[in-house]
Amino acid sequence: MTVTPTDLLRQHWDGSLPVDVITIAEKMGIKVTGEFGMTDSASGCIERHPDGSFEITYDITEAQVRQRFTIAHEIGHYALGHLNEQHRCFRDHPSNFMSNAQSAQERQANAFAAELLMPQSIVKYAIQSKGVHKVADLANVFNVSQAAMSYRLKNIGITR
Ligand SMILES: [Zn+2]
Repeated sequence: MTVTPTDLLRQHWDGSLPVDVITIAEKMGIKVTGEFGMTDSASGCIERHPDGSFEITYDITEAQVRQRFTIAHEIGHYALGHLNEQHRCFRDHPSNFMSNAQSAQERQANAFAAELLMPQSIVKYAIQSKGVHKVADLANVFNVSQAAMSYRLKNIGITR
């Protein structure tokens, strides 16, 4: 069974921006651990422990916007049902966060992360009702990178 970003936001989001992905993960029962640099220079991972619990680990030395995207992406792997007996762990390097990532599951986790961090309806509200128009300002409000916001705006048909 998979859960959509909209479901998660409805259940676990307090409505304030930027979306607090650590709190959302914790409310889902996932442990979130920051590490001072990770082996093999991964940005983050999600793991299903033998006792059935889940843990997201992320690199706290990376830019905060990257940390947030990493955590949202790992939540995506969990919510999309990617973890199972055969696949107990996803380990993500920066290449997995590209829109042209090799595996379909990575691309799905990225799309999930984008909607969780930058919900379509909220982005449109910020632009249309709050008058936030510059990419840099929108990126600030949602605490994402300008690259992620630009891509998002194209994806939801705000810009071309
Ligand atoms: Zn991944």
